[in-house]
Amino acid sequence: MEIDVLRDRINSIDAQILKLLSERRSVARDVIDLKKSQGMLLRDARREEDLLAQRIDEGRSHGLDAHFVTRVFHEILDDSVRAQELVLQQGLNREEARLLRVAYQGIEGAYSQLAAKRFFASNAGDVSYYGYPTFAEVVDVVEENIADYGLLPVENTTAGNINEVYDLLSRTKLQVVGEVIFQVDHCLLACEEVPISLIRRVLSHPQALAQCTRFLSQLRECRQEFYVDTAMAVRKVKEDGDPTQAAIASEEAGKLYGLKVIQRKLADQPENYTRFIVAARKPIRVDYRIPCKTSIIMATAHQPGALNKALDAFYRQGINLTKLDARPKPGSPFEYLFYIDFEGNLEEDRVQKTLAGLRGSTTFLKILGCYPMESRQKTPPSAQAIAHQRPRSSPRAVGEEEPPAAAVSALRSEEKGGDQAEEARLIDRSTKAESTVLRIRGAEIGGAEFVVIAGPCSVESEEQVRLCARQVKECGGKMLRGGCFKPRTSPRSFQGLGFEGLELLVRAGREYDLPVVTEVLSPADVVAVAELADVLLVGARNMQNYGLLGELAKVNRPVILKRGTTASLDEFLDAAEYIFARGNHQVILCERGIRTFETVTRNTLDLGAIPIIKKRSHLPVIVDPSHAAGQRDLVVPLALAAHAVGPHGMMVEIHPEPEKALSDGPLALRFEDFAEMMDEIYQG
Ligand code: PEP
Ligand code: MN
Repeated sequence: MEIDVLRDRINSIDAQILKLLSERRSVARDVIDLKKSQGMLLRDARREEDLLAQRIDEGRSHGLDAHFVTRVFHEILDDSVRAQELVLQQGLNREEARLLRVAYQGIEGAYSQLAAKRFFASNAGDVSYYGYPTFAEVVDVVEENIADYGLLPVENTTAGNINEVYDLLSRTKLQVVGEVIFQVDHCLLACEEVPISLIRRVLSHPQALAQCTRFLSQLRECRQEFYVDTAMAVRKVKEDGDPTQAAIASEEAGKLYGLKVIQRKLADQPENYTRFIVAARKPIRVDYRIPCKTSIIMATAHQPGALNKALDAFYRQGINLTKLDARPKPGSPFEYLFYIDFEGNLEEDRVQKTLAGLRGSTTFLKILGCYPMESRQKTPPSAQAIAHQRPRSSPRAVGEEEPPAAAVSALRSEEKGGDQAEEARLIDRSTKAESTVLRIRGAEIGGAEFVVIAGPCSVESEEQVRLCARQVKECGGKMLRGGCFKPRTSPRSFQGLGFEGLELLVRAGREYDLPVVTEVLSPADVVAVAELADVLLVGARNMQNYGLLGELAKVNRPVILKRGTTASLDEFLDAAEYIFARGNHQVILCERGIRTFETVTRNTLDLGAIPIIKKRSHLPVIVDPSHAAGQRDLVVPLALAAHAVGPHGMMVEIHPEPEKALSDGPLALRFEDFAEMMDEIYQG
């Protein structure tokens, strides 16, 4: 068949998809009218979860994988929510359709303009964009009614606050009426496709350069030049036509001015976002159904407890802060203004009460505005929905109910059969009765959800780890594991791909939206591994490597601590305490089998340890049946038995072709075994 014939078919399928999307959006608009008249909330998490479960099921019958269907429907649901919010907001803030004039700092193609275009994309009327050289001018033209809105960047996730804008906000009469969170992908752009080593001058905005310091430090004999915005740097490189010059800016700006992309993703942090605010002369009202934020600036008296008292006003009304920042007060050295964003609508009673409380405890208070939050929660499909069947009532797990603090306080000394009570550990329930729940990207461990972590013993290739990630996601797993630094008993065994492997693991995790778990072997690697991985694993051989534990205590990353094969429960808990007490409170305990006189299995999985740990510690506890079993056919039965005693999760090893695995092939589950195990765990 001719390629043109196939392309024609694809074109006509896409035309149908677009027509249906548009139809769907208009039905969603009708739904909001009904929700409005019946006083219903905008979103219904149950309905969204059911919808996703149904679509995943239907998608499967057409051969589509759950991850793909989930991603498509997250976009579609997001569009519905935004369309419905727009209807609500238009009803509340009536404005006749007219040409909107939007001011931003920079010239055409600047990030501010790209963000502005996104914010006003759904505007029915025409929008014109005007660039100004400085932030102050943007504020001025909106104040003077030369423009209707101004776009101003306030913070970047890599480089921090844009202080000049905060200072302008503290002075202007303008109100914040919206926010845009814009993912900034800095590219190196030049006139021709020259090798990076030939670049001698890099032009950009100082903020953009500050976000790419690691990349820039690799360029030898290369000068940096500041421009007032990234697009201007692009224009200058184009005008000069000098192939040894390059600009750091967006790909769009490069296209606009005719430059070539030499390299993408230059920012130090792969997830680099800038948050912009939209300023206008008049405040807006936000419908009570729309999640919104309020921004304020305040100052407190220079006396003990003043800030504490002000913050207490939020706590009393149960209001969540999304930002708290201190900035030097212009003109008053070593006095500070506090910038606060919180979740809440100015029209809510609790917000009014909070503000009343603040008036009594601050020396200055300015309300910058109340506006819809940009990021909408994505309802995740339940693991049950993905594992295809309905949840069974979970087996009655031993030690499930949380004992009251008083009841456990005597526990340890009681178990030791004496009254020579030792000092309680910080990880003990007698110190903190409620269970610790850790949030790791989208996943939660330590709460009611049973979290499955799976992946290969070792990362071996891009293809192998990608296939594993896909299978983990497809079966309802919540995290991806993969060893890159392997502690092998024999020096001749495969030692892992190191940081190269870690990059492959992270890439696969990002593609399938799974946090990644990897073992760190050396204290010297902890910081570097923590920059890439979401969770750090301490292998059984290292449970009492206090040099390693000490380094892990210093990083802000959850640690899975495996029980040493010869460690008693108390020694295990002491090792966790070591990390916890030195500053890292995100520790997950993992039972993976201990050494007994029995040699038929690789190790003896100590299932009794799970309920005991749950009783004695508030930390999450998981099970690794793979390493205890040592042989594939035992892994699933042990996993199911382990699930029955009530851990917060499980970690298992899988491999697309276990016969070819470079490590632990004999115990790796085949994909179909893993799928079946997941069905068993989550099914009715
Ligand atoms: C692992 O999980 O990759 C591992 C090496 O396991 P253990 O430390 O439990 O032997
Ligand atoms: Mn292994």
